[in-house]
Parts: sequence; C-alpha cells; structure tokens
Amino acid sequence: MIPIDYHLHTRYSEDGDDTLEAMCQRAIQLGIPEVGFSEHWDVGPYEINPRFFKPELWYAELERLRDLFAGQLVIRAGIEIAEPHLYPQETAEILRRASFDYVIGSVHFVGRNFMFDRDYFKCHSADEVYAGYFAEMEQLVRTTELDIVAHFDLPARTGIPIFGYDPLRYEAQIRSILKTCIERGLALDVNVSGLRKPAHNIMPDPIILEWYIELGGERFTLGSDAHRVPELGLNLEKAIEAIQSLGIDHVMQFKQRQAYHLPLE
Ligand SMILES: [Zn+2]
Ligand SMILES: [Zn+2]
Repeated sequence: MIPIDYHLHTRYSEDGDDTLEAMCQRAIQLGIPEVGFSEHWDVGPYEINPRFFKPELWYAELERLRDLFAGQLVIRAGIEIAEPHLYPQETAEILRRASFDYVIGSVHFVGRNFMFDRDYFKCHSADEVYAGYFAEMEQLVRTTELDIVAHFDLPARTGIPIFGYDPLRYEAQIRSILKTCIERGLALDVNVSGLRKPAHNIMPDPIILEWYIELGGERFTLGSDAHRVPELGLNLEKAIEAIQSLGIDHVMQFKQRQAYHLPLE
C-alpha cells in the first residue's frame, strides 16, 4: 500500500497539466489514502513564468475537493518553493496567503543555471555542477524554515546520462547538509520522478539515504512529483522499498506544519 504522495503538481503550477479534481480521482482509483499538492512558487529572476501560482483560487478548490472526497481521500496543502533562502520576503508572502500543511524547499537554479537545462550540463564539469548545487543546498537547509527537502540530488536526473554521478565524491558536503537536516527536523522527499527519465534514478541516491539514517535521520516523505494524472503514485513502491530495505518502518505525515509518523505496512 502506498500511504501518501506528497509531491504533486496540477494546472496551478506553470508546468502541470491536470486539474486538482482529476488528480484526486486518480489517487482514489489507486487506493492511495492521502495526497498533498505542492504547486511551484517560483519568484527568481531567471524564472520563465514567475509568480504563476494563485494560492487563493487553488485553496478554495482544494477545500471544495476535501468536502467532495471526504471519507475517501485526505488532501493536504503543500507548497514547493524554489530557492526560498534567496527570497525570504516572497516566501513569507506565500505562507500568509493559504493555510499550508507543509513547505517543501527546492533548489532548481544555482545562480542563473537551471538544473534541468542540458546545455548547462554539457558545457560544465560534473564537479562544477554537483558541488555548486550542494553548496546552494547547504544554504537552503541552514537558513530556511522548511518541512521537507525536495529531490535532494536533483542534478543527477539530468546529469547521469551526460556525465554520470558519483555521490561519494561529494560525501563530506552531503553529510554536512544531512546533519543540518537532522538538527532542524527536515524530512527528505524520496522522489521517484527520475525513474520516468533516462537517468532512471531515485532521489536521494540510496547511498545518501543510508548516510542520513546512519547520522540519525528518520524522516521521509514520498513524492512522485507528478505533473499529470498518469504520473501520480507511479513507482512510489520503489521509494518505499528503498527506505524499508534500510530498516525504516514509517513515513512522515504533515498537518498544519506538524509532523507525525505514519507506519508503513
Ligand atoms: Zn522541484
Ligand atoms: Zn515538484
């Protein structure tokens, strides 16, 4: 059983295709009892469509669906904020505009470089890309009030087919980020979007999951990072296998920014 899918995008995200209602129907069809929508809040200077998300309209629709699907589906209100450490005012603003159950922090941009831009990867070394990204992640987890860290090693999804990925080269940097996550109670988004891509990876890489647990971490959420109906819940059983094989018997549930254990069956 897949207990949650906490990383979902709809038409309220610039790159999402489907409605909240269609995504909810899919979750019910799949027997996933709880979902969380985490639309993009992107405000940086290099975003193509900054401030696309309209939280008031979204939240009203979410409330309608909570009533419509009461008893069938629990619907959480999340938000995925890109580089929130760089935009504290816009981050505070969005958190005032709706009642969120959890906040996911992401690094999509390092400076002007977009972590999905293949041209950036092709004209830089693996070390420049990965070490640069992890340096930005360190700032994110140190300085922002978050609940969940999204797709921990995101550049791997684009980088693996281009120049590979060896997390061991960045072990010291990664362990430092993980320690901060643990000190601050941040959960890791076990994100399976890479399994739909040529990289065919889970984020974080299993070795990073292992380091986090070894350092004392035990907070995980599950994320398909679906941007359309057929992607919802897809491959999440592999995320569950990855953490269960490391001795983890629960995932985290978030309500009104409080974390609870949800046992894995
Ligand atoms: Zn993201
Ligand atoms: Zn996302």
